[in-house]
Amino acid sequence: MLKGKNRARFEKTIITQVRSLLKPYPSASLRKEFGRLYVDLGNESYTDLIQVLKRVFGVMSISPVKVTPSERDAIVETSVAFMEERKHEFEGGMTFKVNARRVWKEFPHSSHEMNHMVGSPILRTFQDLSVDVREPDIELRVEIREQGTYIFNEVIPAVGGFPLGTNGKAMLLLSGGIDSPVAAWSSMRRGLEVECVHFYSYPFTSQRAKEKVIDLARALADHAGTIKLHLVPFTEIQTAFTQLGQDNLIITLMRRSMLRIATKLAERERALALITGDSLGQVASQTLPSMNVIGRATDLPLLRPLVMMDKQEIITLSKQIGTYDISILPYEDCCTLFVPKSPTTNPNLRIVDKIEATMSHLTAWVDEAVAQTETIVLHAGESVTGASSSDDSEIKEDWF
Ligand code: ATP
Ligand code: MG
Repeated sequence: MLKGKNRARFEKTIITQVRSLLKPYPSASLRKEFGRLYVDLGNESYTDLIQVLKRVFGVMSISPVKVTPSERDAIVETSVAFMEERKHEFEGGMTFKVNARRVWKEFPHSSHEMNHMVGSPILRTFQDLSVDVREPDIELRVEIREQGTYIFNEVIPAVGGFPLGTNGKAMLLLSGGIDSPVAAWSSMRRGLEVECVHFYSYPFTSQRAKEKVIDLARALADHAGTIKLHLVPFTEIQTAFTQLGQDNLIITLMRRSMLRIATKLAERERALALITGDSLGQVASQTLPSMNVIGRATDLPLLRPLVMMDKQEIITLSKQIGTYDISILPYEDCCTLFVPKSPTTNPNLRIVDKIEATMSHLTAWVDEAVAQTETIVLHAGESVTGASSSDDSEIKEDWF
């Protein structure tokens, strides 16, 4: 729905994302026309493809369409067949109207004539239908174009937002929790290309904990098409902090170092912002004073898409995007190890600065962690669970 220069760029971006999401469905094909994308199902399952296409960022809605040659009898016949397939939906009585549009002006019948020519046989065939031109339950649209006529009635809302990457690129700190994958998806929907960075403390955290984060990135790739994940060894820095005797500041110090490393990776990858899954007041490191002291460790804009959201809203979203079931797996995160009994909710910036200044190796460790970062790329369709939502009965309440 854009005019001007951006339109072509946005459409191109959407097509790229659709193509990568459709890779696991090789017989489906794609065609662009008049600000729309047409996906020919080929032999692929309609329900599967709708699920996938609903995730394409920047797409407002999807309609299942029957196509027929632009010739009167074929249009009438296909329209009746279209309604026949939906007969069970209007059992017991419903109203309808035909809304024909003659886009191809050479077509010999006017839109008005077509409304009648299509409407009458439908009315004769289905006892349960009556006409209401003002507020029909079903509006059967018949779009007559030169290359074919499109018959449809359903408008399925899609995810909307901006096409992926049209607002630039940002580096997201991805933990194994519930929040950061949701922060990733929210950012992608705003048109950001998201690369993920995860910090692990092997052998304090297991190989399985790292696998879990890779699975989360895979689930995100089911939305984005592709996700780059940077895996950063954090053991050395984390161990150094635990030996300081400043237990209540460990999380603050760790977060600041994470941000410094993420900033360097962002600069290397030309990302213009950092993103976290912070939500105001959720834990000690997410109070305003904590965010203040932690956030100062980076010069990049620090985006926190979930900052004002309620945990329950975040959980609902994480189920919708298919990351919840992975997030609640029990494997430990590097921050949940060594968590002090009473992490501060009100760290003092001067003290934190002073502690860091006494750690002469810190800068070198940060550089080393960047140098030792391993990068992997995940693709749509590789996910084990797929982006399905889970059963409400599985909700656990113990992450607060
Ligand atoms: P999440 O569910 O995203 O883990 P959380 O409520 O558990 O969030 P914290 O563990 O305090 O909160 O983490 C806050 C944010 O810090 C996370 O959302 C994430 O962006 C970042 N973060 C925490 N741990 C890591 C990690 N090991 N690697 C990368 N980022 C991390
Ligand atoms: Mg966490």
